[in-house]
Amino acid sequence: MSTITGKTNLVGLLGQPVNHSLSPIMHNAAYEEMGLDWCYVAMPCDIQDLGTVTKVLRCLEFKGLNITIPHKQEILKSCNKLTEIANNIQAVNTLIPEKNNQWIGANTDVEGFLKPLKEHNLKNKSVVVLGCGGSARAVVMGLSSLNIKKVTIISRNEGTLNIFVKSTRNLLSKRDISIKSINNKKLDVSPYIEEADLIINTTPIGMNGSNAKTEKIPLGHEIWDCLSNKTILYDLIYTPRPTNWLKIGQQKNCFTIDGLDMLVEQGAFSIRLWSGFHDVPVQTMKSSAEKHLMV
Ligand code: NAP
Repeated sequence: MSTITGKTNLVGLLGQPVNHSLSPIMHNAAYEEMGLDWCYVAMPCDIQDLGTVTKVLRCLEFKGLNITIPHKQEILKSCNKLTEIANNIQAVNTLIPEKNNQWIGANTDVEGFLKPLKEHNLKNKSVVVLGCGGSARAVVMGLSSLNIKKVTIISRNEGTLNIFVKSTRNLLSKRDISIKSINNKKLDVSPYIEEADLIINTTPIGMNGSNAKTEKIPLGHEIWDCLSNKTILYDLIYTPRPTNWLKIGQQKNCFTIDGLDMLVEQGAFSIRLWSGFHDVPVQTMKSSAEKHLMV
């Protein structure tokens, strides 16, 4: 990292916890290559302090902030304006400084999620989303911009599933995309897995250090016997690399995508919003994150 001087601008991440975050590594690598005299720091913040901390950081003229788990919804209260995407999914992962000590809330997870899918033709395809939490909202918002035919949301909890589908149905129906929800505790989901062209795991199942470690594979092992090589598997998780679920896909010759590209791309989109520069060294960000994951 370049020397920090009295002129260095600060940027940072608020979440709880943040000590495993790859963002400081990949952001600082990008700033160095871009010649920006900026420094990115990860700051643990409890939910009750979020309002005060964001106000103080705006007074200290931070160039921008990223917001991570578990604050992506709570931070809405600290935003004076929202971008259209952030408003649609009611989640913010990026704060942009605005005049009068205000913050604009944006969400770059949607663009980050879409980037690795750009080279695939998904016109009229069927997509399955596993899980219906915060990241599934960004995923469904992203899917609404593709010419797909239908989305099936599979999740374990009837209550959260119904709320999720109610709040995302309009988004998809505007684009003639049908949406169906399936509770995997009640129904056999194998027909949906068999017909899917793309399956996205938005649950933490299979992630290192996750509480969901008792089941290392989303939906359990057996269901994936019916998977064929036409299906793309996209896991939002990036530790371990590959996850056990993506390993199954690789054994079946499926095209697989892990969550590192999404992480890097959402970070790159945040840098574009803060700096106004379009050219961000995405490859440098990715290789610095990969190197750190190998340590
Ligand atoms: P979240 O809001 O907590 O949602 C998690 C979803 O998974 C919920 O629907 C939850 O079901 C379900 N789930 C959790 N544990 C489960 C289990 N044991 N069995 C079945 N379903 C389970 O979390 P999130 O923010 O969406 O994040 C999800 C994952 O995506 C995390 O691993 C996170 O690291 C990753 N992620 C990656 C990126 C990236 O850039 N690559 C970005 C965002 C998130 P209930 O509704 O029943 O609780």
